[in-house]
Amino acid sequence: MNQSQTNRAKIGLSFIGGHLFICLCVCICILVLPFSKLLAATENLKIRIMLDPGHGGEDTGTKFKYIKEKTIALKVALRLKDALEKDPDFEVFLTRDKDEFISLSTRSQMAEEKKVALFISIHANNSSSPRAKGTEFYFENQNATDEESMFLANRENNAKDTNGSGTDEKSVDLSNILSDLAHNDHIIMSQQLSQHLLEAFQKNMRIKTRSLRQAPFKVLGVTMPATLIELGFLSNPGEALLLNRPTTQKMMADAIYDGLKTFKEKLDKIHRLTVK
Ligand SMILES: [Zn+2]
Repeated sequence: MNQSQTNRAKIGLSFIGGHLFICLCVCICILVLPFSKLLAATENLKIRIMLDPGHGGEDTGTKFKYIKEKTIALKVALRLKDALEKDPDFEVFLTRDKDEFISLSTRSQMAEEKKVALFISIHANNSSSPRAKGTEFYFENQNATDEESMFLANRENNAKDTNGSGTDEKSVDLSNILSDLAHNDHIIMSQQLSQHLLEAFQKNMRIKTRSLRQAPFKVLGVTMPATLIELGFLSNPGEALLLNRPTTQKMMADAIYDGLKTFKEKLDKIHRLTVK
């Protein structure tokens, strides 16, 4: 092969090589693009959650001796935050991560500003009967399930709701709160969210689980699906001691996490059906 033949062969090879390279790039694009689209969709389905440990600071909530509602709520919320942060399906925020006072309206506002998909408010209960016990799940609706639910909503709504700047919102009439209630879709989604959490508690917890209820809680007056969990009764001495145990707090946080996970799976299924 003379010099000119060698040069032509080299040019031919580089031409074929260039085409092979282009073909390879096209193949990679064809194979990878759908996955990148899928990944993008999955990223879109990451659920942003606002956890709301009730009360805080000067507002202790209900209490039994040294055991305070604000402390139990915060401990469970922090454990739940740890579990959610390890899961790429979730992005988690807290209305408070320490013992500080946050007004009810500020809590709702924080959820709206962060554009979260779900709002979970965590509390502990109180009853005039020391025998009352169990975990309860509430979603907001102007029609309270019963007088007890209405009484509880009034108690939680009347939690000290001033930040000391003179903006006292106690004067806000209940009718104003009710007029801001979300649409039926919001109520249905909140009910389903609460139902998933209740079922997870029934599966994972030995502590009695009471029914799913509805009441006009002010802090649940947000635009996204929301639930309020009353972990148990501090007015019941046995249950108060149980709630104060780190092992119980972890089990409760894990149960809430399980409920959120199954709710997320349900949303994913709906999303897939919708996309198809
Ligand atoms: Zn409370």
